[in-house]
Amino acid sequence: MTTVTNLGFPRIGPRRELKHALEAYWRGEHDASQLQATARELRRRHWQLQRDAGADVVPCNDFSLYDHVLDTAFLFDAIPERYRPLVEADPLAGYFALARGVQRDGLDLHALEMTKWFDTNYHYLVPELHAGQSFRLRGDKPVAAFLEAQAQGFPARPVLLGPVSFLLLSKTMDGSDRLALLDRLLPTYAELLGRLKAAGAEWVQVDEPCLALDLDDDDHAAYRRAYQALAAADRPHLLLATYFGALAGNLALAAGLPIDGLHIDLVRAPEQLDAVLDSLDDSRVLSLGLVDGRNVWRSDLDRALKTLRRAHERIGGRRLQIAPSCSLLHVPVDAAVEAALPADIRSWLAFATQKIGELRTLADAAKGLVQAFDTLDAARELWQARRRSPRVHRPEVAERLATLNASSLARQAAYPQRRQAQRQRFGLPAFPTTTIGSFPQTHEVREARARYRSGKLPQADYDAFLAAETERCVRFQEEIGLDVLVHGEFERNDMVEYFGEQLDGFAFTRLGWVQSYGSRCVKPPIIVGDVRRPAPMTVRWSRHAQALTPRPMKGMLTGPVTMLQWSFVRDDQPRSATCRQIALALRDEVLDLEAAGIGIIQIDEPALREGLPLRRKDWEAYLGWAVECFRLTASGVRDETQIHTHMCYSEFNDIIEAVAAMDADVISIETSRSRMELLDAFVRFRYPNEIGPGVYDIHSPRVPDAGEMVDLLQKAVAVLKPEQLWVNPDCGLKTRGWPEVRAALTAMVEAARRMRTGMAAKV
Ligand code: GLN
Ligand code: ZN
Repeated sequence: MTTVTNLGFPRIGPRRELKHALEAYWRGEHDASQLQATARELRRRHWQLQRDAGADVVPCNDFSLYDHVLDTAFLFDAIPERYRPLVEADPLAGYFALARGVQRDGLDLHALEMTKWFDTNYHYLVPELHAGQSFRLRGDKPVAAFLEAQAQGFPARPVLLGPVSFLLLSKTMDGSDRLALLDRLLPTYAELLGRLKAAGAEWVQVDEPCLALDLDDDDHAAYRRAYQALAAADRPHLLLATYFGALAGNLALAAGLPIDGLHIDLVRAPEQLDAVLDSLDDSRVLSLGLVDGRNVWRSDLDRALKTLRRAHERIGGRRLQIAPSCSLLHVPVDAAVEAALPADIRSWLAFATQKIGELRTLADAAKGLVQAFDTLDAARELWQARRRSPRVHRPEVAERLATLNASSLARQAAYPQRRQAQRQRFGLPAFPTTTIGSFPQTHEVREARARYRSGKLPQADYDAFLAAETERCVRFQEEIGLDVLVHGEFERNDMVEYFGEQLDGFAFTRLGWVQSYGSRCVKPPIIVGDVRRPAPMTVRWSRHAQALTPRPMKGMLTGPVTMLQWSFVRDDQPRSATCRQIALALRDEVLDLEAAGIGIIQIDEPALREGLPLRRKDWEAYLGWAVECFRLTASGVRDETQIHTHMCYSEFNDIIEAVAAMDADVISIETSRSRMELLDAFVRFRYPNEIGPGVYDIHSPRVPDAGEMVDLLQKAVAVLKPEQLWVNPDCGLKTRGWPEVRAALTAMVEAARRMRTGMAAKV
């Protein structure tokens, strides 16, 4: 008999109940007991949902009030000293302080750094460790979670982040070796396992997602040491969970560890099944990750069943479990509530709840249950309907893509010649000033949009409102003396949604929320079918804004890789194919902007770097098509049209060649927070085109003065030629307030003026 399990369930709740409870607690409207009551109720409901959908065993301790990596650091008392008094005084308040920082009562503590959880859009908090760090158990969250599930009659398996992944995901503040802390950490893990066993847990799921990364010999040795130590403890059975990719070079290591079971991701890496079956000895349990925990589509159940049967033949049902490929944290809770979606699209979707149902069907079909075959038949029909649907396949998109050739990917002239044409056309001063696109999205702007969307504000009134906001923004930029203006993006809710809503091939859910970090959720669009642009999307507002001013107005687009990266994508064609379709649609937009007299066009690609695959060997292929898609979008224009791109990160060192290959005339990047450290990349690599290293950190309400910005620009001049440099903030200004923006941009214009004077003095 094959057991249906799950590695983790979304925590936020189908209606973002956890978000609302957290924010009420942070605002002081709810006390801790109200927050804990909501959390308990969510756990109960989610366990019930999973059981009702057919899970034999449900995960526990997968729930977190903020983040499971922070939970792990907290549990093992890996708490930075600056936070200790707060944590001792009030553990819950201290826990949130670690996550969010504190600025009150004379305290000014910065939060733990946040970074992406592997290649997902979830962000975890990076534990801060140091040499000689000691660990001990603080509280008993995993044990309590297990007892809570047990008391409610749910057969539960506690989830822990494994010791090696925990250390590899942390950073040491003194630069010492993280893994050197392993021997100090393991006794605490062993103690926790002992407590879980005493509480009655039969199995524990130990997540080691780092086993899907490139690991070196030291990492391998750490894995061996860790699991030998844990195996010797008095403990429940250990299921080692790997996901987000193939074990590949780590397979022999993982299979050789003294564990009782192994979970593998067969969605990202279906090819690894046979090798795993060959290397696992016959005392071990194998958990097959059969349905996609990273995407929203119904599975191809026939294929999954074939995989399950193959494993069954080899090792029998007793040793087999089935589960999603990874935790379901990365998908919304329930597709059944999406009543506003077209019925066919809804019928193709499987969110967390539906995915457990799919696993139930697979287990029942493997057992030979008749009803399971009816469910399989119905599922097959839906799956095939999606493959055939005209909503998915628009032949004209493929036909157009087929006509592209190398010349569609290159600008007419090389950069030096374009530069001349653009200088002549725009006559900009040295150190030209500009912004990244958005201006403050004030309460009034958001309210007007909400009223328009709910039908309370008529189209004509909304348009008049936007026109007035745009004009005010243009006048403001003229007044403070910026060189290249933007329209302000007041009409946009979100940089992906705004475009997705105007493109064919995208669908939007009502409640398809996925946790991004803490209480922050995103509602990614779903790319359902071939992408096409039925009509121009931004030309109207850009043209309107350009008509207001003689200064150059920059058109503003979201790039194809970012559109792809921040959406749920199709699983019936490679990501690269979907990206090309988006690029082609955006290329038309670029050309329409150009034809409308917009001489400068910015194509934002903040997600280009985060799309990098987990394994180095896959980088080149990814960067190849990602850069190609950008070029497809950008390169149809004339030489004198200036293409900008923007990326709000700065870890450039390892992808600088690819960034240069995008061949944008100007690139703006985030640099102010790192005090231009990231410009190191430019010491090694001579970036050929123009570049605007951000001089104003827009993530903070702090207003820098002109002197500070001049200092940053001086650092930039040390590694780049003055005539390459632009002056701009780190990113868009939409989260800031007008008074700070006015003060900071005024200082920025002044900084550029001082740089020009300085340069003139040198000649
Ligand atoms: N143009 C966008 C803005 O200014 C860019 C946002 C981003 O890089 N994330 O808001
Ligand atoms: Zn940005």
